[in-house]
Amino acid sequence: MCHAHFHDSQAIDIHTHIIPEKMPNWAEKFGYGGFVSLDHYKSGCARMMIDNIFFREIMANCWSPEVRMSEMKNFLTDVQVLSTIPVMFNYHIAAQDCLALSQFLNDHIASIVSQYPKRFIGLGTVPMQDETLAVKEIERMKSIGIVGIQIGSNINDINLSEPQFDSIWAALEAHNMPVFIHPWNMMGKQHLSKYWLAWLVSMPAESSRAISSLIFSGVFERYPKLRFAFAHGGGSFPFTIGRIQHGFDSRPDLCAIDNPKPPRDYLGHFWVDSLVHHVEALNYNINLFGEEKIVIGSDYPFPLGELSPGNILAKAQLNQSVYEKIKKNNALSWLFGNF
Ligand SMILES: [Zn+2]
Repeated sequence: MCHAHFHDSQAIDIHTHIIPEKMPNWAEKFGYGGFVSLDHYKSGCARMMIDNIFFREIMANCWSPEVRMSEMKNFLTDVQVLSTIPVMFNYHIAAQDCLALSQFLNDHIASIVSQYPKRFIGLGTVPMQDETLAVKEIERMKSIGIVGIQIGSNINDINLSEPQFDSIWAALEAHNMPVFIHPWNMMGKQHLSKYWLAWLVSMPAESSRAISSLIFSGVFERYPKLRFAFAHGGGSFPFTIGRIQHGFDSRPDLCAIDNPKPPRDYLGHFWVDSLVHHVEALNYNINLFGEEKIVIGSDYPFPLGELSPGNILAKAQLNQSVYEKIKKNNALSWLFGNF
C-alpha cells in the first residue's frame, strides 16, 4: 500500500472515532437486541441509542468526513486515523453476526479513506470472539485499504494474554498491520457508574491490564514485529511500571511463569498516544517510552478527549526534533513500519 503522500502532511492523529450516519437495523437483522442505533432527531445531531436507552449524544462530526475536515482546519492535526467507537465492538454477540457488523463498519471506513486518501487512514474492527473469522476479516480488510485494527483491552473479560488470540497476532504480523488497543468493557463497571468512574478510573486501569497481559504472556516476544499502540498514554501503566517491575522481581513465581524477561525491557517496544491531559505526564511518558514512541491521539470527537487535538504538544514546548517526531513520523512508523 502506498503511503508516500502522508510524508507531506503536518500531523497525524491516531485516535479518532467514527460511526456510519446510517446503519442497518441490527436487532431486526440478527433477531436480538443490544445494538447501537442512531436517532437523527434534528439536523447535525443524533442520539446514540442502545435498544431504547439513551447512550450518548453525538454531532455530525462523528459521522461526516466533510465536517471532520472542516474542523481539522482549527487543529494541529490534518490527518485522522479512523476507528469505530468501542461500543460497536460487539464481542459478546454471535461471532457470525459480529463479522457482518464489523464488515459493514470496515467497508464504511474504507470508503472514506478511498474518497479522501490524504486526510484519513483506516483501522478496522474484527470479531475477536472467533479467531478464524477475525483472521478472515483481517485479510479482507487489508484488500480494501484498511491498514490495521483497533481492539478492546479485554475480550469478554478474557485477557489479551490468552493463546486463543495467537493466530490473530500472527496474521497481523504477517500482513504488517498494526494494532491499536482501546480500553473497553471496563473492569468493575457495574460498581462505577456514579461520577463517570468507569471512564475515569477503570479505563486507565484497562490499558495497564492490556499492556501487562501482553508483557507477561510473552506476546511481544513471540510477535516481535507486531506494532502495538495504546490509548490514553497507556493509562495507569506508566505511573505504576515501578510497581509492576517490583512485583516481577519479588514474586517471579506469580509473574514470570510465561515470560522470563522483565517488564521494563519492553519500555520503548510499543507506542502510546498523547492523550494524558497533563503536560508533566506527557513529558514523563516521553522519557519513559522514548521520543520515538509517542503519537498524537485526541479521542476526537468526544468530550473526554483533547478538544483541540494536538494542543498538548504545543503547550509542552518540546524541542523541534521531538515535536516533529510526535506530530507525524512516529505515527507513520507505527502504522506502516519502517518507512
Ligand atoms: Zn477513544
